[in-house]
Amino acid sequence: MKADELREAFLTFFETKGCVRRPSDVLVPRWDPSVLFTPAGMNQFKDHFLGKCKLDFTRATTCQKCLRTGDIDNVGRTARHHTFFEMLGNFSFGDYFKREAIHWAWEFLTSDKWLKIAPERLTISVYEDDSEAYTIWSDEIGIPSTRITRMGEDDNFWPASAPSQGPDGVCGPCSEIFYTMENGSEVEIWNLVFTQFNRVGDPPDNLRPLPSRNIDTGMGLERTCALLQGVDSNFHIDILKPLVEAVAEVCGRPYEAETDDGRRMRRIADHLRACTFAIHENVMPGNNEEKYVVKRLLRRAVLDGHQLGLREPFLYQLPPAVAEIMRSPYPELAETSERVSSVIQREESAFLDTIDGGLARIETLFESIESAGSGLVSGQDAAELYTTHGFPPELLETLAAERNCAFDWQGFQEAMDAHGLRSGAGTRVELFTSGPLDALKKAMHGSEFVGYDATEASGKAVGIIAQDRLCETLDEIDHHEPVIVVLDRTPFYGEAGGQVGDTGWLLGAGDDSLRFEVTDTLREGDFILHRGHLREGQLALGEPLTAKVDTARRSALRRAHSATHLVHAALQHFLGPHAVQQGSKVDTDLLRFDFSHGGSIGSAVLEQIEDMVNANVFAALPVSAQRLPLADARHAGAMMLFGEKYPDIVRMVSMGSDDERVSRELCGGTHVSNTGEIGLVRIVGEESVSAGTRRVTAVTGFESLRRMRRAEQTLSEAASSLKVPTHDLPTRLTTLTKELKELRKGKGGAAAAGVSPDELLAAAVTVGDTRLVVASLSSGDAGSMRQCIDQLRRKGSPIAVLLGGCDGGKVTLVAGISRELEERGLSASTWINEAAPLVGGKGGGRKDLAQAGGKDPDKLGDALEAAKAAMQLLLTAS
Ligand code: ATP
Ligand code: MG
Repeated sequence: MKADELREAFLTFFETKGCVRRPSDVLVPRWDPSVLFTPAGMNQFKDHFLGKCKLDFTRATTCQKCLRTGDIDNVGRTARHHTFFEMLGNFSFGDYFKREAIHWAWEFLTSDKWLKIAPERLTISVYEDDSEAYTIWSDEIGIPSTRITRMGEDDNFWPASAPSQGPDGVCGPCSEIFYTMENGSEVEIWNLVFTQFNRVGDPPDNLRPLPSRNIDTGMGLERTCALLQGVDSNFHIDILKPLVEAVAEVCGRPYEAETDDGRRMRRIADHLRACTFAIHENVMPGNNEEKYVVKRLLRRAVLDGHQLGLREPFLYQLPPAVAEIMRSPYPELAETSERVSSVIQREESAFLDTIDGGLARIETLFESIESAGSGLVSGQDAAELYTTHGFPPELLETLAAERNCAFDWQGFQEAMDAHGLRSGAGTRVELFTSGPLDALKKAMHGSEFVGYDATEASGKAVGIIAQDRLCETLDEIDHHEPVIVVLDRTPFYGEAGGQVGDTGWLLGAGDDSLRFEVTDTLREGDFILHRGHLREGQLALGEPLTAKVDTARRSALRRAHSATHLVHAALQHFLGPHAVQQGSKVDTDLLRFDFSHGGSIGSAVLEQIEDMVNANVFAALPVSAQRLPLADARHAGAMMLFGEKYPDIVRMVSMGSDDERVSRELCGGTHVSNTGEIGLVRIVGEESVSAGTRRVTAVTGFESLRRMRRAEQTLSEAASSLKVPTHDLPTRLTTLTKELKELRKGKGGAAAAGVSPDELLAAAVTVGDTRLVVASLSSGDAGSMRQCIDQLRRKGSPIAVLLGGCDGGKVTLVAGISRELEERGLSASTWINEAAPLVGGKGGGRKDLAQAGGKDPDKLGDALEAAKAAMQLLLTAS
């Protein structure tokens, strides 16, 4: 049975048991601050299990993308651990329980209609005190007692009362199903968790039965495939073997399962697959949290490649293979694999740049540890390897472990702290937080948002939260801190999808003595939270209110948001489909849009982008929004942002007509109804935010107007201070800067040489009507000398000038004479050759200007003397 078939069979089987088939949640649940990556199928149902939300169904089944780093050192070594893997699950929220869960698991695994696994290959574990489960397995299913093991809390209770999780909370026994492999070893394939208790306080007698009991199960797709396909390792199943072989091919050598190299290839395949899925959801390798995990996995794979002899980036060639192998369950991977590849390639190159230095450093480090006999990698060394060679500490720890060295984590953290750095190492623990909203969540779905078409609506106060507590009433004098009001329905947009929240007023319906000023609107789950201050009157729960959004501000937000979609479309048009949104901020007539792109965008292309956006504005295209099933939106070609968690029913915003569609995105934001409303769009900035991500900033509507006005004002102020009409500014400025430059050069010429033209003139000798200037300057810069001569000639004629100077061991001489002297038959080039030979050189040039170089600085004085004498002679003679 192929993996694709197993996935489908599992989901179909549980559908026949009344479970609703739900899509996999994202791999990176940004909505859940307690985990970095989805660790199990149950994660998306946390609120369901805790009774925190209203249930549309009480039985569900999924195939969930999971990523765990806890088993990372096992990856490649054991036959059954991955970082990224898929977990098949069935779930009950206060519906079916232990008996059904066990019977159905058994039926699916062993019945002829489904997996047909030989029952004698399966063994069972149950929690030691769970006689109920034991009896179901032994008496109802008929498993011989020799194949049922009772285990303790560590193995068969979830969650075990780990200190990090605190002893209290929802928990229950579990029962695991193991498969006996050819070689006799047992592999856990399925874990059934029976959440039936609330744990309060210390044992014994601290388990209180829950009124509503849940089922949470997880079956490993890869492990089950391995046994169905009769292969000895997860890595040899149909969706992993081709990837391992692709790795082998890139490495240019065959895959041999039993060797060290084989292990490395499996690890590369695993880490690459995990990173492909994570980067697909826009997690870029970085220095904290999930970004750090991606960096760490990639670097480990690069190191494995390095140890296989690869010195150039190679991992980046593999994401298309992942997309191809996984195309049936995850067709969206193909759409991003090019971008994923380029992100990986950049990270690979970055690490490869420092890896050799790092490995050399590690080698000497281990040598010194060995000779000192300390057996410990110090935190200081680890921090240095991380910060200067980019070696993730976990990677170093693994290398250290291979040499039987321990790793000083605490010292590492201290060293990093001392540098003011953060490694991102270590992950968040699971925790279920509860706040004042939880009570509300039990009572209702959320607030109804009615603000797409209206900016004013009546609603009822259903929640008042002050100082983190739910209140019945609120008094104007009560609070200086902002308080939160929740309405059953509201036109206020809560900050989401990059669009900032609305501001405005909540007013007493019919009686204007109640005024609550909303300074900000937020969103939590499906609730819209109006944050602000009660300015007048008293507010009580249940009170009917009129909610009025600040309409001018809202219009500015609409303009900016719609412009964002046009900018996105234009970027994709001119830069390519890889230029997808990475983040955005929509503010009043101001938008900031981050997207994937390698280099900077030239001003010509930026102008084309701006033109296209504005052409779509001037075309005054209709904008429409439609709610429809996700699959239909996909079909309609809506642009989707990966890593976003889309509900089943999505809102699709389209711009343009059916024949001329310019943009179609899934978006919950507020928009103009016609692009013409946006007004002029100006792109005012283009910059890099991080490797591979660029940002454009643009303004719309009044902000464009304001900026233009300000620019014109600045221009006219400049024009009036220069006393020219505005359109003459550029020419005037060019002349001015030229003059300034000449002035500076003038100064630069003689001044740089330590004298001013006037000083030189003052020291001139006069022969007849001609002034003769022969001087040595402090620099040998020929350019300055020529300029200086020009200045002197302009100051009066006839004049003959010869300047000399030294730079290092070189002498420069420049001579110039004015036109009258030229007419009298004198020549600068003849003159300079009176002096040049004395400094070991030879001169040349024209009659009016000549130059010579020499290599004997000591003789400069003599040369100048000779020149002066020669000219005096000539002048008296002529
Ligand atoms: P093990 O003890 O074998 O590492 P686990 O107890 O951590 O597994 P559970 O948390 O019970 O696993 O997850 C449910 C199922 O998911 C397991 O029975 C197994 O089939 C699968 N699974 C768990 N972790 C991994 C992993 N790292 N790689 C592949 N499959 C896994
Ligand atoms: Mg388990």
